[in-house]
Amino acid sequence: MSQASHVMQSSRAESGEPGALYVVATPIGNLDDMSTRALDILRSVDVIAAEDTRHSARLMAHFDIRTPMLALHDHNERTRAEQLVARIEQGERIALISDAGTPLISDPGYRLVAQLRSADLRVVPVPGPCALVAALSGAGVATDRFRFEGFLPARSSARKNALEALVRESATLVFYESPHRITDSLTDIAAVFGERRLVLARELTKRFETFLEGSAEALLAIMADDPDQARGEFVVIVEGAPEQSEEEGSVDAEQLLMAMFEAGVGTKQIATVATRLLGGRKQQWYERAQQLKDAQG
Ligand code: SAM
Repeated sequence: MSQASHVMQSSRAESGEPGALYVVATPIGNLDDMSTRALDILRSVDVIAAEDTRHSARLMAHFDIRTPMLALHDHNERTRAEQLVARIEQGERIALISDAGTPLISDPGYRLVAQLRSADLRVVPVPGPCALVAALSGAGVATDRFRFEGFLPARSSARKNALEALVRESATLVFYESPHRITDSLTDIAAVFGERRLVLARELTKRFETFLEGSAEALLAIMADDPDQARGEFVVIVEGAPEQSEEEGSVDAEQLLMAMFEAGVGTKQIATVATRLLGGRKQQWYERAQQLKDAQG
């Protein structure tokens, strides 16, 4: 932020302190992960905007934080954001927390931060726990490039489409998953990614923290043997696709479609194979295969 805009904010505040939003990370399980900076800020701000005030009340009680709270969640973020922007403009200091971990990472807050930034108001990240970073730091997979995809779609057909679009991605893939869907998601990952190596980080920083690795099918077998392994919160990490040299990777799409068509492969299967090998949307390959079929009469 420019020096000029900083001075402008200072003059807005009655106390001489500029208003600001502090985006504060909170523990993802182990309360000892709360930073002293986070505690100082949560104790000193005018109000804490929490995703679920009842849930966060336990954290506040544990650390004897008596700051008033208000709710900011997916369903009220638009209206709430306007009120909070107005309060910060008046010079208030407000903290944003989510149920666990870093706000905005698969959690509400993005609209509020965007509005504050466009109003040239201060936003101060207070970093700390984040499940995806904790999982990557303990998994032993390449972290020089990773692609965080948040939660996969709930419906299997949409989930498979999303996975198929990622199968050629060479960066490490990271997903969040709930216990309700972990076995369904692993089943779809097995169907799309085959033998690709996964690391499953479960219950990070908690008593039953576990890292499992293997193919999706191997992980499903472990869960079938020991249903406790399917309980809790998960980060699913999938190794990236091997980098292809220019020559290896240069599959001619038309030739591939034609070869499959001539071998008698059906339009739907052509679309599935092409999406897996060439990337892009399945529908696009389906339409192209259909055109080839029509052209051949
Ligand atoms: N903002 C949070 C963060 O910084 O990680 C993520 C919130 S998202 C709504 C919740 C998901 O994060 C869970 O479903 C799970 O996939 C993942 N997660 C949160 N805590 C976890 C933990 N202790 N161990 C493993 N995964 C966790």
